[in-house]
Amino acid sequence: MINTKLPNIINDINTVLFPNLCFGCNARLYRGEQTLCTLCRNQIPLTEFNFSDENRLDKTFYGRIEVKKAACLLYYSENGIVKNLIHHLKYKNQPQIGDFLGEWFGSSLKDDTSLPTIHYVIPVPLHPKKLRQRGYNQVASFGTQLAKSLQAKYADDLLIKTRNSRTQTQKTRLFRMQHGKPLFALKNTQILQGKNVLLVDDVVTTGATLEACTKALFTCSDVSVYIATMAMVP
Ligand SMILES: [Zn+2]
Repeated sequence: MINTKLPNIINDINTVLFPNLCFGCNARLYRGEQTLCTLCRNQIPLTEFNFSDENRLDKTFYGRIEVKKAACLLYYSENGIVKNLIHHLKYKNQPQIGDFLGEWFGSSLKDDTSLPTIHYVIPVPLHPKKLRQRGYNQVASFGTQLAKSLQAKYADDLLIKTRNSRTQTQKTRLFRMQHGKPLFALKNTQILQGKNVLLVDDVVTTGATLEACTKALFTCSDVSVYIATMAMVP
């Protein structure tokens, strides 16, 4: 009797001592709530972008690189729920936030008939040094959930980051132009031939990272690139 009740008592004590908090507003989560409280879920700025109508994220890439179609789940702002979510995901060791966002976005994408069959979901990679520091790629859980929803293969070993970008930003533009080997590279330039790739990232600001990744994907011939991200800066 005591043995079966003990875990429940420990759970109750844990709930009192370490209550689950909303990653959006820090409020205490109630039974049935996960990651975000109901209020934050209702207030979170959804883009409602899809893969048929032209949207603001598509326009980011016009004239720069041929992305077939792009969409993102949320609008990012300097304050608020989305910023708090992404901050916890990236810097507070909360990779499950990516699962939450990936499940959410994935459930709408799997019913989006304008998105063709996706063969590979590929995350924007971290440099191995950064990956060791953080312990995980913050896009991995998001990408894995999207791949699951779309019945695609999640591949995090094809696209690699060749340099740590922090060292890059410290150098001048001229230095980079003279010594500029690409920031991203494709390990295998055959495997993606004739395939539809969904490139995934966390927050799009200028689109430069996704542009560089797409360029690397195009070192394989006949690849179609689609983009899905958690959020964009409007
Ligand atoms: Zn909240």
